Amino acid sequence: KELLDYCSGCGIKLQTTDSNKLGYIPKENASICQRCYKIKHYNEISSITLEEDDFLKILSHVGQTKSLVLNIVDIFDFEGSLITGLRRFVGSNPTIMVVNKVDLLPKNLNLNRILNWVKKQAKEYGVNVVDVVMCSAKKNIGFSRVIEALDKHRKGRDIYVVGATNVGKSTLINRLINDFSDLDEELTTSRYPGTTLDLVKIPLEDGKYIVDTPGIVYTSRMTEIISKRDLQKITPEQSLKPRVYQLNERQTLFFGALARFDFVQGERQSFTCFISNSVYVHRTKLEKADELYENQKGEMLSPPGVEEIQSLPPLTKHAFRIPKSKKLDILISGLGWIKCSNEIGAEVVIHVPKGVKVVLRESMI
Ligand code: GDP
Repeated sequence: KELLDYCSGCGIKLQTTDSNKLGYIPKENASICQRCYKIKHYNEISSITLEEDDFLKILSHVGQTKSLVLNIVDIFDFEGSLITGLRRFVGSNPTIMVVNKVDLLPKNLNLNRILNWVKKQAKEYGVNVVDVVMCSAKKNIGFSRVIEALDKHRKGRDIYVVGATNVGKSTLINRLINDFSDLDEELTTSRYPGTTLDLVKIPLEDGKYIVDTPGIVYTSRMTEIISKRDLQKITPEQSLKPRVYQLNERQTLFFGALARFDFVQGERQSFTCFISNSVYVHRTKLEKADELYENQKGEMLSPPGVEEIQSLPPLTKHAFRIPKSKKLDILISGLGWIKCSNEIGAEVVIHVPKGVKVVLRESMI
C-alpha cells in the first residue's frame, strides 16, 4: 500500500499525531488532510493552532494589505484571550472586536454596561478597535450586530478573522458561512507565499473573502494546560450563577485542585465567584489548606482527576492587596473570576498552576 506524504488538497505534509496541527489525518492511508476533507465535504472549517510569535511572523504581511480584521475574544476569559500583539499584525487596518459567549453572562445584566467595560479594558491594553460588538455564536444572540458591523466597516475589503484558541472562532465562521456567504462557490484554501501555512478563504458575494487564520495558543490560560475532559468541566455551559462566600480572615477556598484563594487579612466580607458549576468549591481554614491539598488533590478536590493531577504544574502564589472603595475582580485566566467587596479591603493570595495568568481588574459585573 502506497503511503502518501502530502495532502492532495492543500499540499501540506500529512501527519497522524496531532489533530490540532496542519496536515492531520486520522488514518495513515488517507490522501487528504482532515481539514481539507471537512471543507470539501461539509463546507465546514475546523481549527488549527499556532503560538503567538509564529502567528505574528507568518501573518505579518496582513498589515500591508487592505483588510478588515475581526478579532474574536471570549467574555469568560477576556484578558486571557486578548491578542496583545495585534497592532503589529494589523498595521493600519481597522479592527472590529467581537466579544463572544455573552450567553454565559448572568441573566438580567445591563449589556451596555458590559460593552462600556469591554471598550475601556481594550483601550487600557492598547488594543485599538473601530467597533466592539457582543454576541453568542453558539446560541445565535446578537449575530445581526456582527453582520452590521462587518457591512459598515468592510468597504470592499477581505476580512481576516483572528482569535485565541477556544474563543469560538470556528463556530462563528461556520455561522457566517451558513448565513451569509455565497455557497455556490466552494471554500478554498490558499497558500501563503514562502510558508507552509494555508488559510481557508470563504467567498463573499462581491468577490472578496473571509479568511480564517490559525487559533493562537496562549499557555497562560488554564484551558490550555488541562485535559479535554477537565476542559469540559471548567467551561460553563449556561449563564453563570454567581456563588457568594462570606469569609472570615484566614479562610481558604479551593476551586477543585486547579486554584486556591486565601483570604489572608481583613474584616469578614463576601467574595463572589463566577466559575463553572461543575467546579467544586471547598472552603477550609488557611492553616489546614496545605495539608488538605496534598491529601485531597485529584480526589475530593477535583477537577483535575487523580491521573490528570500528575501533569498539572505546581501551584505558585500571587498576592494582592484589595483596596477599599474600588470594585475589583481577580481573574484566573480560563477558570473564571472572583469579585471582591468594595467596602472593606482585603489581603488575598491566589495559588494557580505555574504559568497561568492572574489579573486584578476593574469589576466587569
Ligand atoms: P475555536 O477554537 O476558536 O475555533 O473555537 P470553537 O468554535 O471550536 O469553540 C470552542 C468552544 O466554545 C466549543 O466548545 C464551542 O461550543 C464553544 N462556544 C463557541 N461559541 C460559543 C458561544 O457563543 N457561547 C458559548 N457558551 N460557547 C461557545
